[in-house]
Amino acid sequence: MARAKFEEPDIKELEYPITIDNFYSSQDIVKRVENLLKSGKLGQTLLISGPPSVGKTTLAYIISAALECEKPDPFACNKCLSCKKIKKNIFPDLRYITLKEGEMGKMRTQIVIEQVREDILKVAELPPYEGRKLIFIVEPSEALNASCQNALLKILEEPPDYVQFVLIAKEVSRLLPTVRSRCQELSLKELTFEETYKIARKLNFGKDAEIAAQVSRGRVGLLLNDGWKDYLALSEILQKIVVFGKNIEYFGEVNSKIDELVTLYKEKENIVLDETLYLIKEFIRAKDGFQSNNNIKMEFLNSVSKEHLYRIEQRTIEATEMLNRNVGIKLIYNYIFLGE
Ligand SMILES: [Zn+2]
Repeated sequence: MARAKFEEPDIKELEYPITIDNFYSSQDIVKRVENLLKSGKLGQTLLISGPPSVGKTTLAYIISAALECEKPDPFACNKCLSCKKIKKNIFPDLRYITLKEGEMGKMRTQIVIEQVREDILKVAELPPYEGRKLIFIVEPSEALNASCQNALLKILEEPPDYVQFVLIAKEVSRLLPTVRSRCQELSLKELTFEETYKIARKLNFGKDAEIAAQVSRGRVGLLLNDGWKDYLALSEILQKIVVFGKNIEYFGEVNSKIDELVTLYKEKENIVLDETLYLIKEFIRAKDGFQSNNNIKMEFLNSVSKEHLYRIEQRTIEATEMLNRNVGIKLIYNYIFLGE
């Protein structure tokens, strides 16, 4: 009756910290989770929600480690065997369910029903191997389509006492109300500029602290992996595309900029579209005379009309839908910036 062993030849170490002192995002949430852990009132079905790069996955692993640690206080000790295995990503009772590659090696946009049946429901029939809990982190949980969510309703409602769910969602509105109502929700938000700046200082950003805090817009994840630098690069590339895109003589240059963009955000197409939309809105605001912190060069933007920016904004909104229909990102960017 033993469950198939969780063994893969090249498992990478976990890229998330499991100790609470490495969690820089909302300290209110830290306090709340601490209280829930101490009082034993942590729900068996958690939903961690919030915008990109605010620490949702990190928090999911911190909570998971706290639940599996041999000497939690109430967070993980980082020293015991369970903690070590979690960090090495070989703890058998911690399962990360996410998007898989489909046919032709392309990433799927949905978590499919086979994954729900095989990787969750079937696994949950047996108690944990060595942990106190059998934990399923599901991300992005909004990638569960309606039939997947329905298939999970029963176990989310009454999970076996050894099962813990941690659903992660950027867009909770895409979860069925019946699913959401079964969850204890921990909602993460962007930090204020002051909070972000303080963290940047603490992380020894030196003279970059201010600009990094500004472009991060309260999303701590962007401070941690040089994401803010990508973001500045994105802002610059977009401005060039926006300005030159309407000019047929710059077609070659625009296309190479689009290539740059696709490379910069390989495998993160949905993020780059979100950021594109945000920046386009910022460009529009800048034209309206609002000050912006996103390295916007007015000498660039002065040469495009607001109507042109509005059209790009509209097409970027439509682009998310195209991405869901598996249209390639390069084609999408061509549509956004070069379409008429
Ligand atoms: Zn431990």
